[in-house]
Amino acid sequence: MMPGEPWTVAKSEQLYGFEHWGAGYFRVNARGNVSVWPNGPDGSAIDLQELVEAVRQRDIQLPVLFRFNGILRHRLRMIHGAFTAAIAEYKYRGEYRPVYPIKVNQQRHVVNELSEAGRAFNLGLEVGSKPELIAVLAIQDNPDALLICNGYKDRQYLELALMARRVGRRSIVVIEKPSEIDLLLKLSEEMGVEPEIGFRLRLAGRGAGRWERSGGERAKFGLTVSEIAAALQVLREHGKLHWVKLLHFHIGSQLTNISSLKRAVREASQVYVQLSRHCPQIALFDVGGGLAVDYDGSKTAFESSMNYTVEEYARDVVWILMEACDAAQVTHPTIVTECGRAMVAFNSVLVMEVLGLANTFSAPCDPRAVLAASDSPTIVTMAQMLQELTPKNCQETLHDANELRQDMLQQFSLGLIPIEDRALGDQCYWALLNAINGMTGDLHYVPEDLQKLPALLTDTYFCNLSIFQSMPDSWAVDQIFPITPITRLGEEPRRRVVLADITCDSDGKIDRFADLREVKHYLPAHDLRDGEQYCFAVFLVGAYQEILGDLHNLFGDTNAVHVDVNGSGQVTFAHVVRGDSVGQVLRYVQYEKADLVERWRHALERAVSEDQLTARESAVLQRKYEAVFNTYTYLR
Ligand SMILES: *Cc1c(COP(=O)(O)O)cnc(C)c1O
Repeated sequence: MMPGEPWTVAKSEQLYGFEHWGAGYFRVNARGNVSVWPNGPDGSAIDLQELVEAVRQRDIQLPVLFRFNGILRHRLRMIHGAFTAAIAEYKYRGEYRPVYPIKVNQQRHVVNELSEAGRAFNLGLEVGSKPELIAVLAIQDNPDALLICNGYKDRQYLELALMARRVGRRSIVVIEKPSEIDLLLKLSEEMGVEPEIGFRLRLAGRGAGRWERSGGERAKFGLTVSEIAAALQVLREHGKLHWVKLLHFHIGSQLTNISSLKRAVREASQVYVQLSRHCPQIALFDVGGGLAVDYDGSKTAFESSMNYTVEEYARDVVWILMEACDAAQVTHPTIVTECGRAMVAFNSVLVMEVLGLANTFSAPCDPRAVLAASDSPTIVTMAQMLQELTPKNCQETLHDANELRQDMLQQFSLGLIPIEDRALGDQCYWALLNAINGMTGDLHYVPEDLQKLPALLTDTYFCNLSIFQSMPDSWAVDQIFPITPITRLGEEPRRRVVLADITCDSDGKIDRFADLREVKHYLPAHDLRDGEQYCFAVFLVGAYQEILGDLHNLFGDTNAVHVDVNGSGQVTFAHVVRGDSVGQVLRYVQYEKADLVERWRHALERAVSEDQLTARESAVLQRKYEAVFNTYTYLR
């Protein structure tokens, strides 16, 4: 950028990488605000700042999780479209059936919205536990949709899956362990219900990326080929080979590299064609989940990215399976996917406000004032270095400054310099580092120690959120989520910040940000202005984050608002799900309001009897205490 050239929203759009990770759903509008395009580039846009205003008017406090129903519908259509296009292109003679694994986001409104939108495609649901099955049994009412039952199963789980068939649900029991076959044979006879079953295949090949251990021979789930052979033998003996309808595998989530998927499909296709010789009714080939999301927008095999598109994924699955079937003259099966992350990650956006600036390393420092105020030799030297700094001596100055600072800290620890001098020394030091950092642009070659400066010179913005509650994967597995300011994108963001949350945990910070080449260790942001709210949005948090989030420091669920657009193009809030109140999170850990209130009252009574409080004052304190139970757990 040329000096003096004005900043533009286009520059912000590029700086934050909207076009790379936004998938057409998130952009910057002419007002410099983030805009959301729930139906992709062809639909209409919603101004995120206006949404924040609208929820504020309704007394819904930040942090707020916005869920965009339009994005859910669009993702479903997009994934479905990719498979139907691949099927048409290759003249594949089977169908495609999407299945949504509810563990990725079990929120009722999310599942309902997907089920409604998916009716046209007979969208199925996948469950992995009894509670998930109980929920789905009652709400899924399309007899043509699949209900895939995965996970370890006990007698009760299997009973539920069989009961489902009695009411016309198409439950398919995926066998994960050999012992499930024996139990199923027994129950089927007792209940007089014939199940449909599938085998979960334990592939020899592994996935790649963070969850690669989900696949491979040492994987936690699935039957090896020899266990499948043994199961077939048992079924044959009981005359039940016709139960087998599906072959399933799942090599892990967030498959960053398409080659591991291709390898898995190749291996599983062979198992499928072999199985079809024994099981005349098998007709479903289920590739599980794993379709990734490009969180950092780099289109690489990096952990938070993916080196393929949804279209390529669909084409590879269809083509490899078709080749194997054609070679063995086997009927093309229906292709089933259980894409969870790719279906729902985009739909949720968390908006939180910045509460303030913590440590700043960019305070201005006038060396003459320092020289006038201190005669400590270390500090005088630093101030002189600040006056004499040039691009030519800046690397040398950095080394000297680091040494002087060490000296100063040591002198301070020994009680040799007063706190005022220490403060001046710190100011000089950070001013030197900032000035040196500002000179690196003039250098032909930037030495390594100078390259590290930007990450060192970041300020910390405190944000009203708990990372443990709202983006746990950022903490637990270093997952990167795109984060941007939601306003002022027409202004140049001159600060470099890292984010800290309001938990009392030093891990509650974000210092890794999306970047096309590497991981960026700071986020560009604007100066805070007095009396003006400044908010960040965290994007792509719709998959796994809500249910994995925890109550660290008793910060509860955030408010969630479902955003839709009605027939006349107006934005509506289809559902508002209030976040946890203080009373609710306390109850999770067995504190009852009545008991706490009574104990507090006792404490107040005692203070009154000891003349530390008047009765009137005690009433005020009682009221203030009780009022908190119904409030939001976050800062107001
Ligand atoms: C978790 C899981 C999925 C979803 O995986 P994504 O990577 O989110 O698509 C699908 N199938 C099974 C069996 C799973 O355990």
